Amino acid sequence: MSHQDVPAASEQSKAGNNFLRNLIAEQIASGEQTGEVVTRFPPEPNGYLHIGHAASICLNFGLAEYFGGRCRLRFDDTNPDAEDQEYIDSIQADVHWLGFEWDGEARFTSSYFDTLYGYALHLIDAGLAYVDELTPDQIREYRGTLTEPGINSPYRDRDPAESRALFEAMARGEYAEGTASLRAKIDMTSGNINLRDPVIYRIRNKAHHQTGDKWCVYPSYDFAHGQSDAIEGVTHSICTLEFEDHRPLYNWLIEHLPVPSRPVQYEFARVNLNYTITSKRKLRRLVDENIVDGWDDPRMPTISGIRRRGYTPESIRNFCEMVGVSRSGGIVDAAMLEHAIRDDLNTHAARAMCVLDPLKIVITNWEAGQVETLTAPGHPNRDDMGERELPLTREIYIEKADFREEANKKYKRLVLGKKVRLRNAYVIEAHDVVKNDAGEIVEVHCHYDPDTLGANPVDGTKPKGVIHWVSASHGRQALVRVYDRLFSIENPGREDDVLDGLNPDSLSVYPDCWVEPAAAEVAPETRLQFERTGYFVADRYDHAPGAPVFNRVVALRDTWAKIESRGDA
Ligand code: ATP
Ligand code: MG
Repeated sequence: MSHQDVPAASEQSKAGNNFLRNLIAEQIASGEQTGEVVTRFPPEPNGYLHIGHAASICLNFGLAEYFGGRCRLRFDDTNPDAEDQEYIDSIQADVHWLGFEWDGEARFTSSYFDTLYGYALHLIDAGLAYVDELTPDQIREYRGTLTEPGINSPYRDRDPAESRALFEAMARGEYAEGTASLRAKIDMTSGNINLRDPVIYRIRNKAHHQTGDKWCVYPSYDFAHGQSDAIEGVTHSICTLEFEDHRPLYNWLIEHLPVPSRPVQYEFARVNLNYTITSKRKLRRLVDENIVDGWDDPRMPTISGIRRRGYTPESIRNFCEMVGVSRSGGIVDAAMLEHAIRDDLNTHAARAMCVLDPLKIVITNWEAGQVETLTAPGHPNRDDMGERELPLTREIYIEKADFREEANKKYKRLVLGKKVRLRNAYVIEAHDVVKNDAGEIVEVHCHYDPDTLGANPVDGTKPKGVIHWVSASHGRQALVRVYDRLFSIENPGREDDVLDGLNPDSLSVYPDCWVEPAAAEVAPETRLQFERTGYFVADRYDHAPGAPVFNRVVALRDTWAKIESRGDA
């Protein structure tokens, strides 16, 4: 969306505040920001992206779009240990799926390694960096604490020429890991620990997925990040609040290096959801230990999981807009994310009927072999979605839960001796049950009233309710997976062990469902509302037209809207 096309009022009222958008607008108004706004999304390719990253993507790409600028995608690949091509591919797919296009090619911090190495030499020559031969443990000891200043390393004042020779030897692979590092020479007594001679290059004898065996020294995040921003002409380098204390270092490096531009770092609060984990490391454990069925398991808060669950990109973008961007983070109610998809699907999903747990109904006054093709709207208030055909036959399925032999008045479904309406069809009355040897009801026999299509029974008796149904001979068998929250505790991220707080009932599989014929033929990733049951999506991988497999996206009932109207959201 650009600032020319103003969102509809209903959208505006949903928009959360975005302090960075306001700030950049002010910078432009005051003339402080003159050129293009350039942002970047800088994931580390060490896992799949999650809903928190979606907030960062929407923010960075959204600002560039809003101000007519550019957003780059840059893989922050300075740590070869945990990185992998699989993650690079999935991250690109996720950003595209969310509906964003990065400027030019995807970039890699590793493609700047030559330049960064040159910057390191520049600092050494200027007497602003030195090779330290303290071990990582000693460096930690010398660093001091929040209350005590650090102590200078004995190598701090070595001659720049000596540091240069040593650093070059490190880069040639002449030192073992942990025996030497390159440190910026700033201030061991600084109140900000990040300025106490931070390590800017370390030895890693590890091949890198982009640069192969070329390097055995790698830049630190802090050294690589700001300089990469500067190389790319990024104007607004947006990161999360934990980097606030790194900003002085970010600025120090930009000031002391011959970089081509002067980016500025801005921080915002992470987006965290209750009942959810937003940490790649913790999510990886769920995958590695087969707690879930891969990174894109529909219960995962990964973008690929959310996609497979049936969320639309629009719903994620709306969610991020609703959450807004601030410097004071809170925990967002997961029900708000559900609200976003329900809102979208209520408008866009076609209606269909599906019976999850079937009970056979035999309409005894309906001739065997007779098929009446009824019609129903594709959507109750969208004519553009047309009509669907519903074959009604002598044998149909309804939900087991929609029939009881006896029930009180509150039960508005089918009861023996009582009437109920079949949705989009006739009124039926149950007159017999057939039980198996175990005493379980296996069939219910009913009469239908042929005068009740769109009309109440002439005898004045009112059907107790409306239930959904599918023809036993013309419907299609389907597999349906009903998902619930992966965690049953509100803050699973706080637990020491990710496995604590898992919801044991997060997946229920219904292998013997029946869907109306048209629903069985939809393309993968088609979203439908199964009337009375919920919103469902044809699984991206497991579903094929004619062999239906559906995932429940979300139930019909909205809890967040209620919370919101109570005013305590
Ligand atoms: P994780 O803790 O899951 O590994 P990360 O911050 O280490 O997350 P990166 O790949 O470094 O993951 O993140 C890429 C970008 O996404 C960064 O700019 C980061 O600040 C942002 N980001 C990560 N998590 C969130 C979150 N929960 N909310 C908002 N932005 C986030
Ligand atoms: Mg990170």
